[in-house]
Amino acid sequence: MQWPGSYCDTKDSSCCYPTTGKPASDFGIHGLWPNNNDGTYPSNCDPSNPYDESKISDLISRMQQDWPTLACPSNNGSSFWSHEWEKHGTCSESELDQHTYFETTLNLKNQILLLQILESAGIQADGNSYNLSSIQTAIENAVGYAPGIECNSDAGGNSQLYQVYFCVGPSGSNLIKCPVFPTASCASTIKFPSF
Ligand code: 5GP
Repeated sequence: MQWPGSYCDTKDSSCCYPTTGKPASDFGIHGLWPNNNDGTYPSNCDPSNPYDESKISDLISRMQQDWPTLACPSNNGSSFWSHEWEKHGTCSESELDQHTYFETTLNLKNQILLLQILESAGIQADGNSYNLSSIQTAIENAVGYAPGIECNSDAGGNSQLYQVYFCVGPSGSNLIKCPVFPTASCASTIKFPSF
């Protein structure tokens, strides 16, 4: 999951709100990515199975809410969802079909109420800095497994909370202990910008 405030306030790139409007002030989905236990991952596994939005028409309003794109130029989200399906979704060994892939990912987002978890621990998107360890501990205590935390830098070079990784089993629906974490990218205290 990605924090939109941290996607948007970096030095190198700005963000564009989707044509459907400014996303909620909440974590959004980035993607569900089949990974190997050593952290490598396959990509673009089945060119014969391209993104077909007609297969997920019943999910589009949930996607707009929970899986908003912030890339420029402003668009309706289809290119982000298409990229995620074609690069990552086509690689699931359990062969989740498109509808199952997107629905499973949406359900995970609703299962892990990340912003609420942080707020309950006094960690708010208020532009203040928090100890990385307190963020990790709050999430681990709530979900039962240590998350991966990825940071980026704001325009002033401050380390900030960008993405939070969780690991799931092959069905995509049960959380598991992560076999490996993303490479450390955070300072020991990190900013949680508003959005
Ligand atoms: P991935 O990390 O899933 O392999 O690739 C992410 C791709 O999706 C990038 O090419 C990026 O430009 C595009 N993209 C579109 N919208 C978003 C967004 O809101 N967040 C991120 N992280 N990438 C986005």
